[in-house]
Amino acid sequence: MYKESSNVVVKYLVNRLRDVQTTSNEFRLTVEEIARIMVSEALNDYPTVTQNINTWQGPLDVQMIEVQKLVLVPILRAGEPMLTGILRTLPYARSGFLAMKRDEQTAQSRLFYENIPNLEDKTVLLLDPMVATGGSLIDGIEYLKSKNAKKIISINILGSQEGVDAVQKAYPDVDIFIAQIDPRLDEHKYIRPGLGDAGDRAFNTND
Ligand code: URA
Repeated sequence: MYKESSNVVVKYLVNRLRDVQTTSNEFRLTVEEIARIMVSEALNDYPTVTQNINTWQGPLDVQMIEVQKLVLVPILRAGEPMLTGILRTLPYARSGFLAMKRDEQTAQSRLFYENIPNLEDKTVLLLDPMVATGGSLIDGIEYLKSKNAKKIISINILGSQEGVDAVQKAYPDVDIFIAQIDPRLDEHKYIRPGLGDAGDRAFNTND
């Protein structure tokens, strides 16, 4: 399934990303904030376990997410600020990394680095801000499945309908939580209206 956020704060923050006057510093911080809200949406119905903790009034059974069973995997480089934001919310989660580069001629992505912890019995939160054609997400999911991830949840910021549909079609068992779906892709496979190249916007390399 996929779910586009209806949260007006998320929409406000996405529109801050679109504004060309948003500096790279604000852009990264805004991506962090959106990722933190989106992880709350994505884990809203996530199963919890009972844990006994010591409170100021003694032991108490509470419902907790097994955060040690979550692995956060950003697709570098644009996914990095999403990881930074979510680690502030879930500091005990593990992290792994996938690095992909988009070939500007073919718009195809290529995996050139991976560092992924053991995924058996783990839920992966795959972090990729942009779902244009869906190609990098599909490649990332394929790789994580080859490492036996128990469950994959994709958290994304901006996508096209065709990109989201392509990911759903390839991997219907992956849940997608996305902040905003824009109307279309242009001839260079950029999302329109979109926000430009998310990696360049975040890391001040768009000249
Ligand atoms: N990647 C981006 O960063 N932006 C797009 O619009 C499409 C892919």
